Formats: sequence, C-alpha cells, structure tokens
Amino acid sequence: SGLLDYAYEKGIIPENTVTYRDLFDVKLMASLVKRPSEVIREFWQNYSCSPKLATDSYYKFSCDTDYIRRYRIKKDLKWKTSTEYGDIDITVNLSKPEKDPKAIAAAKLQKQSGYPKCLLCKENEGYAGRVNHPARDNHRIIPLTIDGDNWFMQYSPYVYYNEHCIVFNGEHTPMVINDSTFRKLFDFISQFPHYIIGSNADLPIVGGSILTHEHFQGGRYSFALNRAEV
Ligand SMILES: [Zn+2]
Repeated sequence: SGLLDYAYEKGIIPENTVTYRDLFDVKLMASLVKRPSEVIREFWQNYSCSPKLATDSYYKFSCDTDYIRRYRIKKDLKWKTSTEYGDIDITVNLSKPEKDPKAIAAAKLQKQSGYPKCLLCKENEGYAGRVNHPARDNHRIIPLTIDGDNWFMQYSPYVYYNEHCIVFNGEHTPMVINDSTFRKLFDFISQFPHYIIGSNADLPIVGGSILTHEHFQGGRYSFALNRAEV
C-alpha cells in the first residue's frame, strides 16, 4: 500500500481510490507473473502426476499473484448452521457487492460491443483493465477440452467456497441448459474427479450473474446438497 500511496503522490495514478489502486497494483504484480505458456505447461505437468496436484498448485498460484485478493476474501463471513433439514452453509459476501438482478436481466438483452465482451471471456487474460473493467494483467487461464470443444478454467477471484473455480466456454456464447450441459458437466468431473461442478442456470434473478457467456461453477467443496441424505 506504500507503493500505491507513492504512485498517487507522484501522479502515476489519477485518484487515490480502490478502482485506480487496483488497476495499478495488478500492473506491479504482473511484471513478476509467468507467461501463460509456462503456467499452462506446469499445470499439465502436475496433472500428469495427479489432477489434484495440478489444481492445488494453480490455486496457490492464483492467490500468490493476488488475482485472488486473499486480504479481501478473509473479510467474508462463512459458517454452517444446523437446521431440521441438515447443516446449511451461510456466507455473507463482504468483499464484492452483488449485482442487481434487473441489471443482470437487462445486460443479457444488450448488444455486446466492448472488449473483452464480458468478465468471463478468455481475452481477460493479461488485459490491462479500465475504470469499469478490472485489470487482469496478472491473470492466467487453463485451456481444457470439454465435450470436444475449447473451454477454459480459472478460479473465481471472489472464492464463494473452497477452490471456487469457473469453467467457461472459449467463445462468448450465452448460457444454455440442454442435454449437452450434462455431457459437459460429466466431462469436467471425469477430468477432475476431486472437484464438484454445477450450473447457475440460464435464468435471471435465481441464476447466474453473467448470462451472456456459458460457464459453470466448480470447486473443491462439499455443499449441503452433497451431504444431504435422501
Ligand atoms: Zn464473454
């Protein structure tokens, strides 16, 4: 934070706000982050030993490079509460404001013209960012083949649960639930058997927050639903 204060005093960043500080500190970090090709090579090298080694190492990398801002995430409140239906997970997200459901619905109808087209597009890798789009200079993504197509994997910078990952289509194509969804989900867990995966669905309000780009939520966590005895 001393470096960021200095950058503001010297006029390197125009405003001393979180937005500008975040845009700048990512640039500082990115000068130390390995090239995408090296990160990918290490991932698959680790994968050949075990998928868990690959994700352990990639998750630690995502934290150590401050793509996942651990110092913010630790402010979130998380606990389990027992109910007559079983233990339920409660999380209170204090590190990222939730989006307005109406804005989410409206965004799905809007024509996309910007670059990157959305927060999930592969073009975010290494992207410098701007006031209304986070800097991702330090971000590295892992290419996967899912149901024969080019997909990618990354962690969520907001970590709603342990090793919360996002598996996303290489193309900017809308969320959809159909028979191929199930092939894709099972393809992922066959490649990463220690992870879970699911879809937030293609519905506004109750569903995902980015409906314009097909993606799934995965990770290494056992949800109440997984633990439920039926
Ligand atoms: Zn996209």
